[in-house]
Amino acid sequence: MHALTFHGIETIKYESVPDPEIESPGDVIVKVHLAGICGSDLHVYHGREKGLDAGTVMGHEFIGEIIESGKEVRKIKKGELVFSPFTTNCGHCFYCRKNLPCRCIGGQLFGWVQNGVGLHGGQAEFVRVPLAESTLLPVPENVLAEEALLLGDIFSTGYFCADMADITPEGTYAVIGCGPVGLMAIVGARELGAERIYAIDTIPERLALAMKFGATCIDYQKEKPLTVLRDGTAGGGADAVLEAVGSPAAARLAIDLVRPGGIISVAGVHNEEHFVFSPAEAYDKNLTYKVGRCPARYYMERLIPLVQKKKYDLTAIISHRLPLAEGVRGYKIFAEKLEGCTKVVVRP
Ligand code: NAD
Ligand code: ZN
Repeated sequence: MHALTFHGIETIKYESVPDPEIESPGDVIVKVHLAGICGSDLHVYHGREKGLDAGTVMGHEFIGEIIESGKEVRKIKKGELVFSPFTTNCGHCFYCRKNLPCRCIGGQLFGWVQNGVGLHGGQAEFVRVPLAESTLLPVPENVLAEEALLLGDIFSTGYFCADMADITPEGTYAVIGCGPVGLMAIVGARELGAERIYAIDTIPERLALAMKFGATCIDYQKEKPLTVLRDGTAGGGADAVLEAVGSPAAARLAIDLVRPGGIISVAGVHNEEHFVFSPAEAYDKNLTYKVGRCPARYYMERLIPLVQKKKYDLTAIISHRLPLAEGVRGYKIFAEKLEGCTKVVVRP
């Protein structure tokens, strides 16, 4: 089959690799219809996140059709259109029962093979899905393929980021980063009742989308977010900061913008060894800091009814729909924010 594979920093190849095969009785093979390129793929692409084997099939956002099942798979069937969270989960371990399937004891991240161990990703013609019955969900009625793709990762992640921020209608919120995840965090915050949301980025297309979803935009290269937030709030800062970047600069901005007693809710993936703020600063801000991998399988199920209502134009964030064969270019334009790129979806 053809796939997008990792070969070192900023080197993705479109190449021929062996087809995946059923390895365990709980596996299925999915014929991929759509796959997303995610900001998380960029950490690997730029070499900030290390350890991935050369030749690993990239990607953890996909939807498609089951074409083959292991003999223990009964609840989902051949021919069914399914969507997936970005990690697999067993559905019954301690963490799955705690609504934290992203930390399932037997779970694996798609698109992560290290020292020969792990799971290939979904930016390919086919993908093997272990623990398939508890990981995959059939695409429900009135949910578009692209909406299901977003539910599997970034819509769930953005909503999770907002959910950790204890949103109230009276509060003031700052979303740092208006990539796909930040934009979905704005939608999540709106849905949870936020009325005052400041969205911070510098890329015009992304700020325009943030505005479309109901936020007030701050281009941080033109005005100081701290000044805007200080002037605009009684508490001298945001009740919660939703950080959707994953960099030391964004972390620094978050601690500066949050008011004493506020929350920093972090969806951005961090690869640094140390916090950019000190324990003393956290103490002096009476800070609550929440961070981590989104339990996407939990949110996917919960957010289906919201997607079915079509209240938000989620797929408006997808700027590029490319054939899988053009995926290498997809990485380049998404990484370098070229051609007004906000989100890339590839089609095998
Ligand atoms: P992206 O790279 O498209 O978006 C990041 C945005 O942040 C860009 O628009 C960029 O201009 C902006 N930005 C960069 N530095 C900034 C700064 N200092 N201040 C304000 N804005 C700044 O990526 P994405 O797909 O939106 O993903 C965002 C983050 O979410 C990544 O770190 C990704 O790994 C992470 N993520 C986490 C989870 C999870 O489970 N927690 C899931 C998916 C993605
Ligand atoms: Zn992702």
